[in-house]
Amino acid sequence: MSYVLAKSLKDAAEFLSAEPEKVTILAGGTDLMVFDRDCIRKNPVLDISGVAEMRRIQLQDHQLSIGSVTTYRDAILSPLTRRYASALVEASQRTGSTQIRNVGTLGGNVVNASPAGDALVALVALEAQVEIVYGLKSYRQGVGAFLKGPKKTDLPVNHLLTRLLIPVHEGYVGSSFYKLVNRASNQHGLAISVVSAAAVVKLSKDKSRLEWARLALGAVAPTPVRALQSEEILRERPLSRDLLREAAEAAVQAIAPIDDVRATAAYRRKVVPAIAENVLADALRKAGH
Ligand SMILES: Cc1cc2nc3c(=O)[nH]c(=O)nc-3n(C[C@H](O)[C@H](O)[C@H](O)COP(=O)(O)OP(=O)(O)OC[C@H]3O[C@@H](n4cnc5c(N)ncnc54)[C@H](O)[C@@H]3O)c2cc1C
Repeated sequence: MSYVLAKSLKDAAEFLSAEPEKVTILAGGTDLMVFDRDCIRKNPVLDISGVAEMRRIQLQDHQLSIGSVTTYRDAILSPLTRRYASALVEASQRTGSTQIRNVGTLGGNVVNASPAGDALVALVALEAQVEIVYGLKSYRQGVGAFLKGPKKTDLPVNHLLTRLLIPVHEGYVGSSFYKLVNRASNQHGLAISVVSAAAVVKLSKDKSRLEWARLALGAVAPTPVRALQSEEILRERPLSRDLLREAAEAAVQAIAPIDDVRATAAYRRKVVPAIAENVLADALRKAGH
């Protein structure tokens, strides 16, 4: 086994583009060590967890720039994520245990592409983009398009996810995340989502309508999905509890749940409207309604 500890982003990008073999990129290791130990034994390993410049959270050109090795703990404590991306902070707070939040990274959650990945749902609702680097080249892609299926992404071999970029909006904007778990497993604080949801809303200047709303749902399809019909129902109509309910009920149109060890598809269909309504109402409250 060969192991390289990257000291800088340049270091990491150069190593990846020069290496003829597939390299295993190691961040916090909380998915890799559990599911993919073979990759660590077979392939050269590049450890990016110590690259300080990939762990920064900053405001840049009306975007929140979050380095891919930002841990859940970093995201929870950052005044910038707390101000501009509360859905992501809440998803981070509901992820794993203290130990997992201390080392698990947001970039790792995105590349792992679990249908039940919590931060992923918040990032989809926040319309985050991923920044990918290979050698001296870089490009960006919407996180929704980047996710191709359970554990599948659009990331080519030896390409590095460097940053997540979240648009920052002025005005009455609020966001929220909610995670429904099996009560028995929640006792350990380590429960995988049965259903999760994130909402981001922007109120009109007089606060009577929504200029726009975004609703994403997790653990109900191969990747997190946007409830586009719900979003359309909410746009520019006078706000009321009935409107929220109508939009929340339409969210089931967006999902394709399966039966698994955590819940049946029928149960997931049943709870989605209530969860969607709660998360939308909380986002509205945070936006100032
Ligand atoms: C006990 C336990 C509880 C958990 N609870 C939750 C939970 O509640 N919610 C949840 O969503 N997840 C949970 N997880 C899953 C996991 O902690 C998260 O998905 C975490 O964010 C993964 O990040 P990492 O840094 O550990 O990734 P790693 O394990 O280091 O990497 C994961 C994958 O991403 C690739 N990768 C990582 N970073 C990059 C990068 N910058 N560029 C390219 N490829 C990269 C790796 O090669 C690997 O394929 C849990 C895991 C455990 C073990």
